[in-house]
Amino acid sequence: MNPALIVHGGAWDIPEEAMEACKAGCHRALAAGWSILSRGGSALDGTEAAIMVLEDDPVFDAGYGSHLNLDGRVECDAIVMNGATLRAGAASALQRVKNPIQVARKILEHCPHMMLVAEGAERFAKEHGIALCSPEDLVSEAEREAWMKCKQDKHAPMFHRGHEQGTVGAVAIDRNGNLFAATSTGGTCCKLPGRVGDSPLIGCGCYADSEAGGVSCTGYGEAIMKIVMAKTAVDLLRQSETCVDSPADASCGVSSAQLAARQAVHLLARRTHGTGGLILLDRNGNPGFAFNTPRMAYGYVGFDGNFITAV
Ligand code: ASP
Repeated sequence: MNPALIVHGGAWDIPEEAMEACKAGCHRALAAGWSILSRGGSALDGTEAAIMVLEDDPVFDAGYGSHLNLDGRVECDAIVMNGATLRAGAASALQRVKNPIQVARKILEHCPHMMLVAEGAERFAKEHGIALCSPEDLVSEAEREAWMKCKQDKHAPMFHRGHEQGTVGAVAIDRNGNLFAATSTGGTCCKLPGRVGDSPLIGCGCYADSEAGGVSCTGYGEAIMKIVMAKTAVDLLRQSETCVDSPADASCGVSSAQLAARQAVHLLARRTHGTGGLILLDRNGNPGFAFNTPRMAYGYVGFDGNFITAV
């Protein structure tokens, strides 16, 4: 089958001046993932490569440049899930790892458990060949300044250019039909140390089932958890085409993948009054995306092989 790839760089109030950087980051992530998938590489390698590019880019809230917690430290979460086996690898509260998605992958492939946290996760990472860095290496100057302002006053989005959230995610299908979804985040700014959001939780921030599709979410984690949004979106993919905003008929002109994405975000708004977004691929590789924040950074590979990015 034809490979497919979709990525996101978070749903938030992306200010005008950050739009180009977000789009460029998504483009680079697509390029990294697609260079693997288009040559017959695996969806696991493709998602990992795409996520690593986004983690390394400080415009996003994952890996280097993540938001700081109340103690002024970066604390990262990541997950990757295999749609064929329904097995996930997830790591949370990492303070000494540059690319948390690599730890998630090691857990997926080599750990009898599906989720490890904090010091135990870092020990596992080290034992499996991932170099640990100093916590300071993950702190960008911009985030330190923002954190100082929050501390002097009180936490406020304006100290972050309106940048409250910018989790990253990717979903890929390879030529053999393998489907993987992944999410990586630094969580929310000024969070309590030890806080875990939706992102690394199976079914909340990420889900993949080859029978239906794969999803990566972003947004207010405490709301996303309430409706188990990633699993909800995958379940919606299983259902027949039903349009939320207008009656279901052929003239609706919206793909079932796109409908499922919209329905999940609609449910988030209706049941939790929370904000967020998601990307997905259905099992045939059709992309879907939706958000109820002012903007979301995302990109996918079109059927002609072109990269489509938007904010
Ligand atoms: N969902 C993430 C969290 O709550 C934040 C985000 O997506 O931007 O940790």
